[in-house]
Amino acid sequence: MQQAENSIRIFRNIPFQLKQKKLFATLKIVEGSEFAGEITALIEEVAPLIRPKVVYRKCSVDQKDQRIVIVNGVEFSSSVLSRNLAEADQAFVFVATSGDELDKLAISKEDILKWYWIDSIKEMALHAAVDFLREHIKNEYGIKKLPSMSPGSGESHIWPIEQQRELFSLLGDVEQMIGVKLTDSFLMIPNKSVSGICFSTETDFITCQLCQREECPDRQAPFDAMVQQRYNF
Ligand code: SF4
Repeated sequence: MQQAENSIRIFRNIPFQLKQKKLFATLKIVEGSEFAGEITALIEEVAPLIRPKVVYRKCSVDQKDQRIVIVNGVEFSSSVLSRNLAEADQAFVFVATSGDELDKLAISKEDILKWYWIDSIKEMALHAAVDFLREHIKNEYGIKKLPSMSPGSGESHIWPIEQQRELFSLLGDVEQMIGVKLTDSFLMIPNKSVSGICFSTETDFITCQLCQREECPDRQAPFDAMVQQRYNF
């Protein structure tokens, strides 16, 4: 069910279907192989428990220069973010999470393989939460393209992770709202959570295009020197 708190919107019951075929493909498990039965049993156990969640806030983009952008009165230092919001008068600050329901399972911490499978399931739940958020905002505000940026994503100078503090300050008590806690080192618990700012744009943007980190398993687009040039990097 959705709840509204001021301009903040919270979704705690996002639809999520844990599909065995997709999980097997992610884990490179062949039907009928050694671990297939164990994973099928795990799916049956955890599927009813998973609750992906999202909180977001529609914010005004007030001022921007080449390095700094002000979102609902909060200052963010990132030339890339500032450039991405150059034409925007609104942006959507969000935190999405897989939820922490599976972290409480009575499974030995030494069962590393099983925890790896659970982490993969949580990752799928997180993707469901982010997809839900994107579709919701696009439909609600009639937006076609809705890329996003996250503090700490990619190389540190793109948008420093320390700015998680400012981002969370725009949402309030995120832990109470959807159970996501920000640690002193600006990481999020549960581990499968993501924070960021979505914005409407005519041009596609993926942070990976500016990131030269090699062998990243999560890369969504190749590094692009032309894009780097466009952002004056
Ligand atoms: S390549 Fe990897 S580390 Fe770099 S921005 Fe993309 S997902 Fe993040």
